[in-house]
Amino acid sequence: MKLLIVEDEKMLQTIIAKGLKKYGYAVDKADDGEMALQMFMENEYDLIVLDLNLPKVDGMDVLRQIRQENQQIKVLILSARSDIEDRIAGLDDGANDYLVKPFDFKELEARIRCLLRQRVVMDDLILTNGLLLIDTKKKMACYDGVPLELTKKEYGILEYLMVHKDEVVSAETLIEHVWDSEVDLFSNTFKFHMSSLRKKISNVSNQDLIKNIRGVGYQIGN
Ligand code: CA
Repeated sequence: MKLLIVEDEKMLQTIIAKGLKKYGYAVDKADDGEMALQMFMENEYDLIVLDLNLPKVDGMDVLRQIRQENQQIKVLILSARSDIEDRIAGLDDGANDYLVKPFDFKELEARIRCLLRQRVVMDDLILTNGLLLIDTKKKMACYDGVPLELTKKEYGILEYLMVHKDEVVSAETLIEHVWDSEVDLFSNTFKFHMSSLRKKISNVSNQDLIKNIRGVGYQIGN
């Protein structure tokens, strides 16, 4: 899952981004409202963490413009504006959640996790596909009860495929959602992670559960 952190206070921006990367999210950073809108137009994000007091374009205007383009993307406002009127305005204008600064990082992560779960209509923390199971909270996968020792990127690929198991997902889409935009990703890097993931699954399941449809993409099979 890929997130955009919109925050003009550099130190806070770095802390949030680093913290969320540890949880396995791909994270991009924007320093002001204008940059946020530009990055939103150029990339596919699953969720945006949005500060309100921003240079160039105010956070509320950023929110309105995002909502004009995209109803699905999750937006969590993270702001020092704590008045109830501000919170109501934020939610009325399309934010999915509102967290007031100062905040507890664990709470931020928990709220992000909940919003992303809603986005993909996961009622449970656990997703299964045949004998394959992933725990989206612990970021763990196992097959028939045997844990698969996956790296963060491998887990990210597998989670995206499990969430979209009815679709063939292109390599570009997987890269968009699993890697942050700063990474200059060579397709070999992606292929390396994908092949390592497939190997780890087939070592345990004795079958190649991730189908590669040549020229189209990947789909998880039963
Ligand atoms: Ca600010």
